[in-house]
Amino acid sequence: EAKQSGRAQSCFFLPKMHERVVQRVYFETSLRDALAKRQFSLYYQPQFDVNKSLVGMEALIRWNHPDRGLVAPGEFIPFAEESKLIIKIGAWVLIEACQTKADWFKNGVFQDSNMSINVSALQFSQDNFVDQVKYALDKSGVNPSTIELELTESMLVDDQEDVIKKMNSLKELGVLISLDDFGTGYSSLSYLTRLPIDQLKIDQSFVSSLSDGTRESTIAASIINIGHNLNMEVIAEGVEQESQFEWLKSQGCDLFQGYGLGRPMPEDELLARFK
Ligand code: C2E
Ligand code: MG
Ligand code: MG
Ligand code: MG
Repeated sequence: EAKQSGRAQSCFFLPKMHERVVQRVYFETSLRDALAKRQFSLYYQPQFDVNKSLVGMEALIRWNHPDRGLVAPGEFIPFAEESKLIIKIGAWVLIEACQTKADWFKNGVFQDSNMSINVSALQFSQDNFVDQVKYALDKSGVNPSTIELELTESMLVDDQEDVIKKMNSLKELGVLISLDDFGTGYSSLSYLTRLPIDQLKIDQSFVSSLSDGTRESTIAASIINIGHNLNMEVIAEGVEQESQFEWLKSQGCDLFQGYGLGRPMPEDELLARFK
């Protein structure tokens, strides 16, 4: 009986495995072409201050796949990382987001807002990362102090000397640095005192279960305190409900981002709604 079910299982398993490999090869091949075919675009999610005035936006990549439609980054960034395509894609994101911000400024829109740009670990670890940023700034002519790079904790633990040097060079270019998904990465907080970080971004996992007395609310409040005591701005992501906004506001949180305030949207829509 065991033999039989084993056979049945392998019959079932093999085609599935095969299908997956084919899918993956196909996906990776089309990902390789996607830049040349201009299938990537940026969506923008608004960020607000305590008065719910728009003060920034985060650029979030989307892949307009010919067969699959709009693909979210969670579905292709892992492939892009594995195949190292993320390096080229990330360079494109930098240029596109800086250019868009520069164009807005020229047209008199969102002039006081910051543009947040996600950086991948592999992208950040490249020797020429700072040059990549400088290139995007120079090419677009954007005001560097309106560009905020979102790094994650995991990028900061590798080679401390190298990381500090890179971040200082980025600061010399005049850009801002934010720590994305804060609280979910490595637990060593000592780097917060050594690295030039402008903003902490409270991870949405803490925000989603906020209300007085939950463990998550204790962590969120602590992050706000740590950030403020180190002269950093604190932003909460994943704010879906008014009660979350109110609670975070009462704790002194500076900025807010989430579906409850505005979803990621194409440039046209952002301009139509917030200009
Ligand atoms: P992230 O940087 O932490 O971005 C926040 C993600 O949470 C976005 O998902 C956003 O749409 C989503 N989000 C915002 N508000 C809410 C909310 O209220 N509730 C919930 N449930 N989700 C919310 P998205 O756009 O699918 O991006 C996922 C991740 O992909 C990003 O997480 C970021 O790590 C990565 N990513 C996106 N764009 C880029 C990019 O241009 N370059 C790189 N390297 N990574 C990117
Ligand atoms: Mg982000
Ligand atoms: Mg995040
Ligand atoms: Mg996240």
